[in-house]
Amino acid sequence: MTEPTTSNVWIPVCCERVMRFNVFIQKDSSAYGALVCGVCNKNVTLELEKSVDLAAYGDGSRAINVLGSPRPPKTERRKADDEPLSDQTL
Ligand SMILES: [Zn+2]
Repeated sequence: MTEPTTSNVWIPVCCERVMRFNVFIQKDSSAYGALVCGVCNKNVTLELEKSVDLAAYGDGSRAINVLGSPRPPKTERRKADDEPLSDQTL
């Protein structure tokens, strides 16, 4: 039996919706990602950084898992505080 692949991730949210995520390849073959809110069009650019030294970004810096979906559900995002924050994997 195979277990379903699930993991804890951070969800990018704006206007109570999960933000869209798309990756764009540029002509020089570098890539960047964009988080976009389908409601207010706010967008956040993500640049790829390879083999990064986390310490260079200051105390408490860490790599986090963020969900990136090109077609997230258009329904209102359920509030995360419906569940107690007892998760030790944060
Ligand atoms: Zn928004």
